[in-house]
Amino acid sequence: MSLGPNMMRIDTLLCPDTGTILDVMQVINANQKGCAFVVDADRRLCGVLTDGDIRRRLLTGGQLRDGIGSLLKREFVFAYEHESYEQMLSRINDKITILPIVNDRMQVTDYFECRAKLTVPVALPDLRGNEFKYLTDAFLSTWISSRGCYIEQFEQSFASYCGCQYGIAVSNGTCALHLALLALGIGPGDEVIVPDLTFAASANAVLHAGARPVLVDVEPDSWCIDPAEMEKAISPRTRAVIVVHLLGQPANMDPILSLAARHQLYVVEDCAEAHGAEYAGKKVGGLGDVGCFSFYANKVITCGEGGMCVTHNATIADKIRMYRDHGMSPRKKYWHEVVGYNYRMTNLQAAIGLAQMERIDDILEDRHRVESAYRRRLFPLGGLVFQPNRLANRKKITWLVSCLLDGDRDGMVERLRQEGIDCRPFFYSLGQMPIYAPYVFSNAVSRKLSVRGIMFPTSRHCDQSILDRIFRVLLTSISASSAGDADLPEVQRISEKGILESMRS
Ligand SMILES: *Cc1c(COP(=O)(O)O)cnc(C)c1O
Repeated sequence: MSLGPNMMRIDTLLCPDTGTILDVMQVINANQKGCAFVVDADRRLCGVLTDGDIRRRLLTGGQLRDGIGSLLKREFVFAYEHESYEQMLSRINDKITILPIVNDRMQVTDYFECRAKLTVPVALPDLRGNEFKYLTDAFLSTWISSRGCYIEQFEQSFASYCGCQYGIAVSNGTCALHLALLALGIGPGDEVIVPDLTFAASANAVLHAGARPVLVDVEPDSWCIDPAEMEKAISPRTRAVIVVHLLGQPANMDPILSLAARHQLYVVEDCAEAHGAEYAGKKVGGLGDVGCFSFYANKVITCGEGGMCVTHNATIADKIRMYRDHGMSPRKKYWHEVVGYNYRMTNLQAAIGLAQMERIDDILEDRHRVESAYRRRLFPLGGLVFQPNRLANRKKITWLVSCLLDGDRDGMVERLRQEGIDCRPFFYSLGQMPIYAPYVFSNAVSRKLSVRGIMFPTSRHCDQSILDRIFRVLLTSISASSAGDADLPEVQRISEKGILESMRS
């Protein structure tokens, strides 16, 4: 059970309860672990002493020959043999890096050690349900490629969750976007409006289809595409808009849909970060012509790699299916009607996806709870603004807990990483990267958000102790960054309104 290269005999950690301070010092000095487990004559655990305990006693008048009985505390940390690795790990922290392991009679039998800085990942898939069961079932069935019963079940389950009639499972979210554009007949000579603040795949799909992305600015409050900017960017060549529901927040759909209707534009929703989010009571994905989802491991639900197109339109669904499967005619095998792709999902992926769908509401609820805890814990900090969660008509979900930070965002991300907390800065404004610069229409707000945004670890493992660690780093970093400035007496507090206004200016 012991971890690390220095596995050693448990006896070298033990010290009898009849010993003196000098005896414990010798044990600690020999084992190099900084602590000793105190046991009685029957090897039963009586306490744990660290070199810090000894030092403090000697500095307050203790003598080397004093017995150790009075040093023992009533409470100390240990683990039972039958406990899981995860349970033991949960007791390890900045101060406690080693635990005695005892049997039912409290006799010490082993120890558990973990000195590596524990890294809290930004995202962790939750695979506690039927994922493994369905996956093994698919495996044992030998239907491991893109035919098999799980694909259709996953497609139906996901489409109906989104309130759509058709679901088409594909290899990943980028394929889903590419297929949506192909099925809508978008290609060379066409323009597709895309928000400037998004993951690059939203724009790449347009380029893959041979069309031209037109990058437009986002709203300062929702961080999603700004309908006013979209309207200004419409040209005679515009054929579609890819609306991105960024970081779980639905875009401002009413004005977008009416603009699209007025100018005869298709609406593709990039829902890769917003499974289950709602606009005016309807789930995203079914609001436009095609909804595209990703099931990459850090998304709301996952199947390793995977994606899905959903739609209400049978003709579009058929076209997506045909392009997904090498462009082959559904009626005549090996007869190719268009130059297609192999963008299929495997039965193995779909098996995991179906199990995820059984628990999607619970998964979303867990994420919501984590975000609420963040909001409560980090609320007292100035200079931190959470993603708005009560915009009119919109019901956001929690993908990654996201904030705007006033101050040195990159320094903060670095300090959090040094503390073992993995954070993400927001996406770069697409237009700032040379390969996308030729496609910029407007991106002033996007650029400001991009340098201020930070995403925090968001999984059910983010308990109070992790939030406390984050809080401590943010607190010291925020005061450290303002400490050098003589005009700022304390932590500079910027109201939510202040930050939003500075975004607009
Ligand atoms: C993740 C993501 C994608 C791409 O999904 P993949 O499955 O990784 O191809 C597209 N758009 C957005 C906004 C995303 O976050």
